[in-house]
Amino acid sequence: MSKADLKSMSLEELQIFMGEIGEAKFRAKQVFEWLHKKQVSSFDEMTNLSKSLREKLNETGKISFAHAVEKYVSKQDNTTKYLFALENDNIIESVLMRYSYGNAVCISTQVGCRMGCTFCASTLDGVERNLTAGEMLSQIYEIQKDTGERVSSVVLMGSGEPLDNYDNVLKFIRLANDKNGLNLGQRHITLSTCGLIEKMYLLADESLQITLAVSLHAPNDEIRNRIMPISKKNDYERLIEACKYYSDTTKRRITFEYAMISGVNDSIDCARELSERLRNMLCHINLIPVNDVKERNYKKSSSETVESFAEFLNSRGIETTVRRKLGSDINAACGQLRKGYLEKRQK
Ligand code: SAH
Repeated sequence: MSKADLKSMSLEELQIFMGEIGEAKFRAKQVFEWLHKKQVSSFDEMTNLSKSLREKLNETGKISFAHAVEKYVSKQDNTTKYLFALENDNIIESVLMRYSYGNAVCISTQVGCRMGCTFCASTLDGVERNLTAGEMLSQIYEIQKDTGERVSSVVLMGSGEPLDNYDNVLKFIRLANDKNGLNLGQRHITLSTCGLIEKMYLLADESLQITLAVSLHAPNDEIRNRIMPISKKNDYERLIEACKYYSDTTKRRITFEYAMISGVNDSIDCARELSERLRNMLCHINLIPVNDVKERNYKKSSSETVESFAEFLNSRGIETTVRRKLGSDINAACGQLRKGYLEKRQK
């Protein structure tokens, strides 16, 4: 029989589990706090449980984990990139970014990705598997342990498409938010999606306070189809409708991410078309000069181009910011580090 992953269970699920193994319900809260408040990695560390219960837990349960195998600290800005090994030796990456308002962590939700965006290194070898909620939490817990500092916000922008791993990601959000655990406010969690429309409607109806970021990267279907294959099934008009539904339902402002690729999506005509498509929306645009990916022939737009694109959008009343680039000396972008590590390991 496969062991139950106790770290991915809500308190209620843990209570049911305790009942199933013939233990008192109140034990669930103790175990939950060990896992999510004290963040231990083994049952043997749960010292207020009897030895026999610890043995029983070892036999029936497991604790999902993420072990740091490599760590790179940027000399420019202290951004730190972690490579974590999971069960089955799967490798994922996470990034710690330090801001004046606190520490933000970017976590992965899948090993690899199957969305196929042509500018992204995470998707080059497809997806291997989904992460469990416990594995998503572990990335945060390990980074807190390593730095001795609290993580104050989390973005689901590492490798993987969060809405392609919907159930586990929802579990993760609720566990991270739990008062008996990390107690991270939902407003401090950002979920980024390439635009899986059906799942966006489901998410809108979950009554969450998280921020939704949508990777738009284009002003129309023609350009978007070229760089994001997922757009062929999830066309522009329906995507914008889904975004409107999300912000109308949750009253939360959507962030649109727009990676600026030289000669592909960065003309003033593109900015004009974008401003027309997003008119009257509760939104904010984040421009990101694309990180060059050596496997593809994409170059980032010049800073002048990015500035005039932003200026144009702002002049049309669409709030637009340019993302500050962190950790460029450590390949901190989108699956580049993991790919290098796997190539090294293969050799
Ligand atoms: N699958 C989700 C989240 C992971 S990617 C999504 O698509 O939103 C996080 C963000 O980084 C997305 O906006 C993605 O499009 C962007 N991204 C991927 N590769 C990039 C690159 N080379 N340069 C700049 N942004 C990139």
